[in-house]
Amino acid sequence: MAAAEVGDDVYGEDPAVIALQRRLCELTGHADALFLPSGTQSNLVALLSHCQRGDEYIVAQNAHAYQFEGGGAAVLGGIQPQPLPCGEDGLLALDTIAAAVKPDDIHCARSRLLVLENTHNGQILPLDYLRDATRLASELGLARHLDGARICNAAVASGVTVQTLTELFDSVSVCLSKGLGAPVGSVLCGSVDFITTARRWRKMLGGGMRQCGVLAAAGLYAVEHNIARLADDHTNAQYLHTQLAAVDGLTLCHPTARTNMVFFHLAADADDAHDAFHAYARANGVLTGGRHTVRLVVHKDISRADIDAAITRMRGFFDGN
Ligand SMILES: *Cc1c(COP(=O)(O)O)cnc(C)c1O
Repeated sequence: MAAAEVGDDVYGEDPAVIALQRRLCELTGHADALFLPSGTQSNLVALLSHCQRGDEYIVAQNAHAYQFEGGGAAVLGGIQPQPLPCGEDGLLALDTIAAAVKPDDIHCARSRLLVLENTHNGQILPLDYLRDATRLASELGLARHLDGARICNAAVASGVTVQTLTELFDSVSVCLSKGLGAPVGSVLCGSVDFITTARRWRKMLGGGMRQCGVLAAAGLYAVEHNIARLADDHTNAQYLHTQLAAVDGLTLCHPTARTNMVFFHLAADADDAHDAFHAYARANGVLTGGRHTVRLVVHKDISRADIDAAITRMRGFFDGN
């Protein structure tokens, strides 16, 4: 980062940003790319670029781009979400997608875009499903956006290339700041025309950052060094899952870890029990998340020994209760 050659990225003149964007084009198979400060802004810029005021996007009820982005598309774009129920496997049923598309009728919003998320809570969407869903979307006249915040986890865990998973979509947002380990930033990829539109929206949202090559340099390092090693996180998450199976007082939600995540229920499955657990874990130096389940995430700074230590500390909660 200290050695990054920087310019003014608002003018498209920052060499480190240009290099990062080019690298993401190679990775995803898309023609152009845009560096943004966050995944939330990247998804918002994608929605604003695909949709007009009075359009809607079809999205899973529990997707990040519906639940956790402050309603930005509706607030700032006049874009209505059409959330749909989503199975435990993270998939929107194809017939449910088709049934949600509105007729061309003045009473209805214009159905414009399908948004999928991969991984979804750590769950990989199968390639066959992605092919079917994106084909259906295009038959229905919908553009296709992928919230690929954790797409590299999906690619590494399923042994297919990132490009195979992303070229099915008109646009994809990739987070550099999750498992890839960069301090900040996301990259939105799409066609040249799409990114031209997206660049205008990014500027309007205040996401045009001047000499941000210092940040792009960290992102480039992450993409060049930290993708293949995600396999270690997946192995460590599975180790964590296996060790937790022996702890009384919790119930694992899934038969295996989900890429780099593990979810469990508490025996007393009430929200205040979760609050007590999170508080206990934090007080003992283990940061946990999740509202109705407990979510544990491993990453490049979490070793096997850290996992053993975390389990020992979390056990105290169950032994004490
Ligand atoms: C983290 C995340 C985002 C948003 O990224 P931020 O950089 O935190 O704004 C979007 N989608 C998914 C699936 C994520 O995990």
